[in-house]
Amino acid sequence: MSKKVLVIGEAREGSLRNVTFEAIAAGNIVSDGGEVVGVLCGAGDLNSMAQEMVYYGASRVITVSNEELKTYTSDGYGQAIYQVIQDESPEGIIMGHTAIGKDVTPKLASRLESGLVSDATEVVVENGNIVFTRPIYSGKAFEKKEVTDGLVFATIRPNNIPALTRDDSLAGEVTEKEVEVTNIRTIIKDVIKKSSEGVDLSEAKVIVAGGRGVKSSEGFEPLQELADTLNGTVGASRGACDAGYCDYSLQIGQTGKVVTPDLYIACGISGAIQHLAGMSNSKVIVAINKDPEANIFNVADYGIVGDLFDVVPKLIEEVKQM
Ligand code: FAD
Repeated sequence: MSKKVLVIGEAREGSLRNVTFEAIAAGNIVSDGGEVVGVLCGAGDLNSMAQEMVYYGASRVITVSNEELKTYTSDGYGQAIYQVIQDESPEGIIMGHTAIGKDVTPKLASRLESGLVSDATEVVVENGNIVFTRPIYSGKAFEKKEVTDGLVFATIRPNNIPALTRDDSLAGEVTEKEVEVTNIRTIIKDVIKKSSEGVDLSEAKVIVAGGRGVKSSEGFEPLQELADTLNGTVGASRGACDAGYCDYSLQIGQTGKVVTPDLYIACGISGAIQHLAGMSNSKVIVAINKDPEANIFNVADYGIVGDLFDVVPKLIEEVKQM
């Protein structure tokens, strides 16, 4: 049965995050031929980003521009999105499983007295019901969640549900909604960026990750070069972060970021279960480790037994020649 689905978009520094386009694709599946309404909160002129949401498959877009929404706060975005939901009475709501999505959606679900399927990696329509697939037990297994009645409310993991092809000939109305945002209990005074270089880890298509085997922060330099050559970004194990070789913002795993790139190159990482929880769903995994018994080889598609300081420069050379 076709549905009206709201897709909550997310922007960073004036550009939409890729997961917004993936959420629109998921919204199109959930809507099953119904209406996919984009929602974009922020401050200033949001029109060109709203238009982009239309090009990626939103039937129309509602922008909510308010100085109080310049930076994300749980109270501000929670109230703004809730007011749009009240106006639109959707049958489905989809958002990215990002830091913001993880924060605001449980709050909304509670206020709407609805269930919430979080961190979905796939969505299909089966016998008229919406079925989501999501990882459990730190990614060791997957479960299927069928929504049989009520609001279909879900967050989707970045880099899993492919976005629709952009089509600039698509047309859809962009309307602005005024909202009342009051009693914001958090004041953001300043935003300090930690790892500013490269692509956002959770949306990166290529990640070169280093572990304790990298041995120092200088040891990360060849990894950075390989990442740059492949148009990717650098990540790390907690072992490398704990040792002070890199910033914790690069940590991948159970207590770090969850990533699903097309290519994950693990250098000097043993493959502890807590690390695998954050990267084992990567599409292609290459492991470089001098210990042939290292657990990382159990999840790797390609394994190279060797010293990373010999292997990584050779890989850089090879890639540069391609
Ligand atoms: P090690 O286990 O020390 O492995 C280093 C590897 O490098 C070894 O396999 C070695 O053979 C190889 N090596 C050494 N020198 C070279 C060389 N020159 N060339 C090639 N290979 C070399 N970990 C995470 O990563 N992310 C998390 O989110 C996370 N969360 C955790 C949460 C909890 C509650 C706990 C208890 C632990 C968590 N951990 C996490 C830690 C995890 O258990 C491991 O300790 C950590 O992942 C190990 O990091 P590592 O693989 O870099 O180091």
